[in-house]
Amino acid sequence: MPGEALRRGLLDWYARARRDLPWRRLRDPYAIWVSETMLQQTRVQTVLPYYERFMREIPTVDALAEASEERVLALWSGLGYYRRARMLQAAAKRVAAVHGGRIPEEAEELRELEGVGAYTAGAIASIAFGRRAALVDGNVARVLARMFAVEDDIKSARGRARLWKLAEEQVAAADGDPGDWNQALMELGATVCASRDPRCDACPVREHCEAFARGIVDRLPRSEGKRAPLAVRRVAVVLASSRAVLLARRRKESLMGGLWEPPTFDGEMAPLAARLGVDPLRLERAGEVVHVLTHRRMHVEVARGALPRRKGWTLPGPEYDAIEPVALDDLPARAHSTLARKVLIVANVALRGLPWKE
Ligand code: SF4
Repeated sequence: MPGEALRRGLLDWYARARRDLPWRRLRDPYAIWVSETMLQQTRVQTVLPYYERFMREIPTVDALAEASEERVLALWSGLGYYRRARMLQAAAKRVAAVHGGRIPEEAEELRELEGVGAYTAGAIASIAFGRRAALVDGNVARVLARMFAVEDDIKSARGRARLWKLAEEQVAAADGDPGDWNQALMELGATVCASRDPRCDACPVREHCEAFARGIVDRLPRSEGKRAPLAVRRVAVVLASSRAVLLARRRKESLMGGLWEPPTFDGEMAPLAARLGVDPLRLERAGEVVHVLTHRRMHVEVARGALPRRKGWTLPGPEYDAIEPVALDDLPARAHSTLARKVLIVANVALRGLPWKE
């Protein structure tokens, strides 16, 4: 098994080549926790503006425990996977109530917090507190599977157990800061040992890499193909004036619960228009949005029309619990999904003050 020379080579490379990311400039466990939570399923470049804004507005675990859920979701709007934000806040409340506002230092204690899995616990414990805690995420799994030529399916129980064991052995043996070791593995996966076209010619550990030595880099890691996402067809109606747009809030228990969006419906345009009490002939087709979630590929047909002056609105379906016209200037303060943003853009609604635009 490659050992010390591999670890030294990787740590030296990390010291030279690491990207300067805001959460790496400090050892604040809260900052690391927030960044690691945002980075799950989301790329660094996408996360950066959200992270900066979130930390500016909610800079401590106590502030997160006390913030309204609406505020937290609004700051998360556009990042997707909103359950992460809810769990992060639930865990912050537990830290405030049970741990006196101090984030636990050991991986086992961290894992008792809502939404903190083995990976995030390992990241916080090792990077913020210098504990010899292992971590395996997609990048690390790929790097370890190649370095040590692990031929098991990395999603299988056996493959996962093998990778975690390797990660534990390596972090236990690494010289110096275990947080640096873990981040070096992650960084190599993110910038050199990519899933497609790894840059083995520029790799600092090439001479210790078993997959490279055996010429099987392109076969690893092994993983059963993902199932194709389910295609879902929906329709959305955007009723807008130059200053406001009609939005409805999804019930907490539903997919993307708690988020505001233009009324959307599985089915045809005419019944949705009828539910909203508008004449379908007064709507025009604006276009189609395609939005891919983990298990679904959503095709949303978008129609737009003028926002009528009206006192009350009826809920357009059982998945909603509120509906009202929202001033466009207030949109950044309302929790909403990336999908909602895409729908508004297709309908030509001017979006202002948001950190991300399609
Ligand atoms: Fe990855 Fe290639 Fe480096 Fe091996 S040599 S760790 S496959 S980039």
